[in-house]
Amino acid sequence: MKPGPKSRPEHENQPGERRFPARHERVDFTSAPDRRSALLPLLAFGAHPDDIEFGCGGVIAKETRAGRAAHFVICSRGEASSHGKPAQRVAEAKKSARLLGATVEIIELDGDAHLEIKVAHAIKLANIIRRLQPGIVLAPSLAENQHPDHPRLGQLVRDACRLARYGGVKELRRVPAHAIEQLFYYAVTPEAEPSNITPVLIDVSAPDVLKAWTAAMEAHVTQVCARNYVELQITRARLRGLRAGGGHAIALFPNDPLVLDSLAQAGRSARRF
Ligand SMILES: [Zn+2]
Repeated sequence: MKPGPKSRPEHENQPGERRFPARHERVDFTSAPDRRSALLPLLAFGAHPDDIEFGCGGVIAKETRAGRAAHFVICSRGEASSHGKPAQRVAEAKKSARLLGATVEIIELDGDAHLEIKVAHAIKLANIIRRLQPGIVLAPSLAENQHPDHPRLGQLVRDACRLARYGGVKELRRVPAHAIEQLFYYAVTPEAEPSNITPVLIDVSAPDVLKAWTAAMEAHVTQVCARNYVELQITRARLRGLRAGGGHAIALFPNDPLVLDSLAQAGRSARRF
């Protein structure tokens, strides 16, 4: 059984930011358990201030519009970047998250370009998962041909999702154990798309979703000035969408097989050509 709201500690939000909704503040679809389950919060991890937006910002925009709470955990201030000072990067990340309807916090691990796989990091991330009790967790993919912090963070998040549900981890005992529903990886660049996982495509064609996603990417002014990252991501989504017979789509890569109640939930496939 999952812990009730009284056992859940307060979320220590950054000053001036919106507080992540407590469990009892969510819409209660008591007559529609599947939908209630679908609206459990989304928790997205990024190694750098812009990873989540470029990798899957359209998915965030779509989910928050559907009523799902979303929270970003960013694990560096982009201090190793060629463009932009850490303070600028953090300010851009906060504005971008706001445009997507998400809250955000910055945490310290090893710093930009220095992230290492450590048990202590996985436990720190597991503690965040227990605190926020998400249904969906998003993390950068494990593919190696990308910024080295990305796959390392993906592995740490995967480990953290496991540790979050293990009741006997002594460093985590102060917060009740929590089992997430799904871990999905996102790919910040085309090279980061795992070749060994069949993706799930999320339709982000709605004009308001595309508009919010574009604005969120453009909020990272120090980055989009350097290269045309926005067009790259929109074009990737367009190619995905076109191949699926639609407008725009973002690929997420499930860590585990998805479970369907029946084949009726399978929807249509992405093969149109
Ligand atoms: Zn990055």
